[in-house]
Amino acid sequence: MSFFRDFLKMFKKREVVLVESYKESEDVYTFRFKKDSEVNWIAGQHGLFSITHKKIKNALKPFTVASAPTENSIQLTMRISQNPSEFKRAMLELKPGMTVSMTGPVGTFHPSDTGRPLVMIAGGIGITPFRSILKQLEMEGGGGGRAIHLLYLDSKKSYLFKDELDDLTQHLSLQVAYLDTRDDLHQEVDKLAAKYKNDGQYLIAGPKSMVSELAAYMQSKKISKRNIRKDAFFGY
Ligand SMILES: Cc1cc2nc3c(=O)[nH]c(=O)nc-3n(C[C@H](O)[C@H](O)[C@H](O)COP(=O)(O)OP(=O)(O)OC[C@H]3O[C@@H](n4cnc5c(N)ncnc54)[C@H](O)[C@@H]3O)c2cc1C
Repeated sequence: MSFFRDFLKMFKKREVVLVESYKESEDVYTFRFKKDSEVNWIAGQHGLFSITHKKIKNALKPFTVASAPTENSIQLTMRISQNPSEFKRAMLELKPGMTVSMTGPVGTFHPSDTGRPLVMIAGGIGITPFRSILKQLEMEGGGGGRAIHLLYLDSKKSYLFKDELDDLTQHLSLQVAYLDTRDDLHQEVDKLAAKYKNDGQYLIAGPKSMVSELAAYMQSKKISKRNIRKDAFFGY
């Protein structure tokens, strides 16, 4: 019975109120919404968001909740280019006090809590679930010394949350490699795949093509499919 109650709660639609929004970098914005006590998620999950202040086409889009549940706000960080979709233009119109509608959070993109070494690979905006996961591990007391590697690829070297990530290396057994080419990323993957083999857990997030290419590359390095979790951001 409680399973069904939890299941239904997951798909409940609710309005969330904007607290603030700001520019993270040239084409990335963060929107921070109030978290009421009923909303909860597992770090790494995403919600389905829709615009409520006007009618638009394709009004429902998935976005990772980039904050940890313990941070007490719902953070969305999204890439908004100079010629954005109607949805993102509507996001830019939001002022504090206005709302969007949120369903979920849903999804299985989170590490198992087995303490196995964790290799996280982010492509560009794919850093959002890892921010949430790492913040949560920090707040839970440092991940119990679990070895964690973040390989963060951004061809423009515009690394989001860099200060926060660097700070997290002081509180977790975390190493962050900031990379700007696929070749460098492959080299780092080779090293970690050789070190942890199938004892490690591998999480990849980013644009769909990058995630698929990298998952195939890892499998060619004998990393089993069941040890790879993927969060493919379609739409880029
Ligand atoms: C599980 C999951 C989690 C995700 N998490 C995030 C996240 O944390 N952050 C994030 O930024 N994204 C995330 N995404 C991707 C997100 O849902 C959108 O698909 C993505 O941001 C693209 O947004 P958009 O369609 O509004 O288009 P835009 O980003 O505005 O544009 C995408 C492309 O389409 C073009 N385009 C836009 N509108 C039109 C139009 N009307 N006609 C023709 N071309 C057009 C643009 O020029 C651009 O090239 C996630 C996706 C999934 C599946």
